[in-house]
Amino acid sequence: MNNQDKKIDGVGYYSDLPNIYVTKPDLPPLDEFIPYLEEIWDSKILTNNGPFHQQLEKALCEYLGVEFISLFTNCTIALMAALKVLEIKGEVITTPYSFVATSNALIWNNLQPVFSDIDENTFNIDPNEIEKSITANTTAILAVHCYGYPCAVDKIKKIADKYKLKVIYDAAHAFGVSYQGESILKHGDLSVISFHATKVFNTFEGGAIISHDAKTKKRIDELKNFGFVNETSINSAGINGKMSELNSAFGLVQLKHVDKYIAQRKLIYKSYCDKLKNVPGLTLPNPIENTSENYSYLPILINEKYHLDRDSLYKKMRDKNIYSRRYFYPLISDLEIYEKITSASKKNLPIASIIKDQIICLPIYPALTNDDVLRVVECITRED
Ligand SMILES: *Cc1c(COP(=O)(O)O)cnc(C)c1O
Repeated sequence: MNNQDKKIDGVGYYSDLPNIYVTKPDLPPLDEFIPYLEEIWDSKILTNNGPFHQQLEKALCEYLGVEFISLFTNCTIALMAALKVLEIKGEVITTPYSFVATSNALIWNNLQPVFSDIDENTFNIDPNEIEKSITANTTAILAVHCYGYPCAVDKIKKIADKYKLKVIYDAAHAFGVSYQGESILKHGDLSVISFHATKVFNTFEGGAIISHDAKTKKRIDELKNFGFVNETSINSAGINGKMSELNSAFGLVQLKHVDKYIAQRKLIYKSYCDKLKNVPGLTLPNPIENTSENYSYLPILINEKYHLDRDSLYKKMRDKNIYSRRYFYPLISDLEIYEKITSASKKNLPIASIIKDQIICLPIYPALTNDDVLRVVECITRED
């Protein structure tokens, strides 16, 4: 029997249906990529700021509405380079509610993460908590636009200006998001973004730093190329963070499709929200004010009024071949390498400590079918 013919309410409760993952990478038709490969084979230019790299930087600046972008091999290296280029020292206030790369980049640069609690509505660092964490050693704030939801950028800027702190945004989730009519990437001293396979816009692996002046971009570009200023001089202990021509060319093809990907995500997002809105015990995402979203994730909270706890629902879904994800559980601050830090205590992070036990991200990606959505919804709504 063809999978399409199996009714989702049939005998077996669809435990024999194909796996649904939390995400699936978006790929353009292969045909569209071939001419780019032919060009690379002709030119023999594989990397080092080649023509596709330059074209992608230009195209992304236009698409994202930013002035300066430096492509990287991935977002984690970009984040490490961003901290380096701003010469961040000492303590950095950050969120425990993120992917581990956010804090790992601090440790890699010998910086001390100081965890600050999150806002229960946006899941982002709570600006009212930041000030309490500032000490004489604080030099920067590393915030995350979690799920692409904009941080309280205006309040964070006020605090940063008052205490002379740098601000870096980990905007790994925020491709294409605009806030108050302009790119969210315009905020902070620098923003970093990810083009990893699981993100809204992917180049297989990839990332970038968004800066706001030509001088900073130049320093970033030197830093990602071993520190080379010219053929014979090196001005810093740089790293190799360069994006290859293959990834850059692929990015140019992806960019032609990304509006469609986001529009498809939006439809799926709305469909879930519509079908789940009356289920007791679920907190669904609300549209965010003044924001054009990218629908990269579908985070819902499972509270006491739901008939199962979060982990039981997670397990029930797995039993039905539905692979949702508990982003972000555990908190970064709960990981063994971070838990000894004073600010990692649960007492310091009450909101994040509740959210991490209630959060579940449902499968969302452009190729997810209506039947897939129905399967997920039915698994959540059925009490057996
Ligand atoms: C994906 C992700 C990263 C890392 O991006 P890579 O391109 O895989 O290095 C960093 N921060 C957050 C919040 C992420 O989700």
